[in-house]
Amino acid sequence: MSANLLDGKAVARAIRGEVALGVEALRRRAAATPKLVAVLVGDDPASAVYVRNKIAACAEVGIRSEEARLPASATQQQVQSLVARLNADPDVDGILVQLPLPSGLDRIPVLLSIDPLKDVDGLHPTNAGRTMMRVDAPAPCTPAGVIEILDRSGLPIAGQRAVIIGRSEIVGRPLSILLLHRDATVTVCHSKTPDLASVTRQADILIAAMGRPAFVRGEQIRPGAVVIDVGINRVDDLERVAEIFGPGSPRLQAARERGYALIGDVHPVEAAQRAAYLTPVPGGIGPLTIACLLRNTLRAAEKRRTPAPLRTG
Ligand code: NAD
Repeated sequence: MSANLLDGKAVARAIRGEVALGVEALRRRAAATPKLVAVLVGDDPASAVYVRNKIAACAEVGIRSEEARLPASATQQQVQSLVARLNADPDVDGILVQLPLPSGLDRIPVLLSIDPLKDVDGLHPTNAGRTMMRVDAPAPCTPAGVIEILDRSGLPIAGQRAVIIGRSEIVGRPLSILLLHRDATVTVCHSKTPDLASVTRQADILIAAMGRPAFVRGEQIRPGAVVIDVGINRVDDLERVAEIFGPGSPRLQAARERGYALIGDVHPVEAAQRAAYLTPVPGGIGPLTIACLLRNTLRAAEKRRTPAPLRTG
């Protein structure tokens, strides 16, 4: 068996197209253009790249965006004052605080300080609670991206056994809720789950989100499963890359030129032989996360600038 690759870039393009239309409609209806501010604290290179990509994606769909930078030496109070200023700025529709924060800073009070109406990452407890209650709220972007790729690829969720590896507050936990809302039977595994393979082998839909390169091996996957690989791991060890992709593979060649490879949490070669459908890394869930962030920003702007009655369901 050779898995069908699910094209995250194409699905993300479709969502971005819808967002661009929504941005234009809002401009006509309310003479307003959504604005996102990304707060970047410190100089972690990976975080800087993520923020740059998000800013570039905004421009493509007509959303205004800005990066608000603070040095790694910023205090908790300085970060929260910046968020407070953005909360109070009527021109700002969406605020995202790029995680992780530098050591010494506590993300929880920062996330709590974001106005829930501007919380485009959907991490504020008000939004997390509303999502839990199935009341209209921004869903966290990566979990929303997983649902989108399944739906838009015509893959069923209702009645399926979904197994998630990883219980983080940005991926595993909220994804378990979204899948439950869609009538999947959901199991969440984590670092203390004994005999992981016996659980993952039951999955019709297996989602890996643990941050361990090529961790999920072929024998842990039920033949014919749908495998969603959320992991994005930078691997600099080219011997490890050769081990995963094989000595003559184009991926190894590309890694030699770049000096590293981006590898998911699933062994890409073994998974391709077992799964019916597989998301590639890169080009799978990554682009969808950004597309869903843009959609959350548009929705936040629509709500703030054209208030509507509460929707449920
Ligand atoms: P995290 O470190 O917050 O959480 C990891 C989770 O995996 C934990 O719940 C832990 O219990 C579990 N885990 C770790 N080792 C395990 C093991 N050996 N067996 C079973 N469970 C194990 O990670 P996160 O922030 O959720 O990110 C996970 C991965 O997803 C990372 O590679 C990250 O880069 C990637 N990610 C990608 C996107 C995207 O847009 N595609 C977005 C967010 C995160």
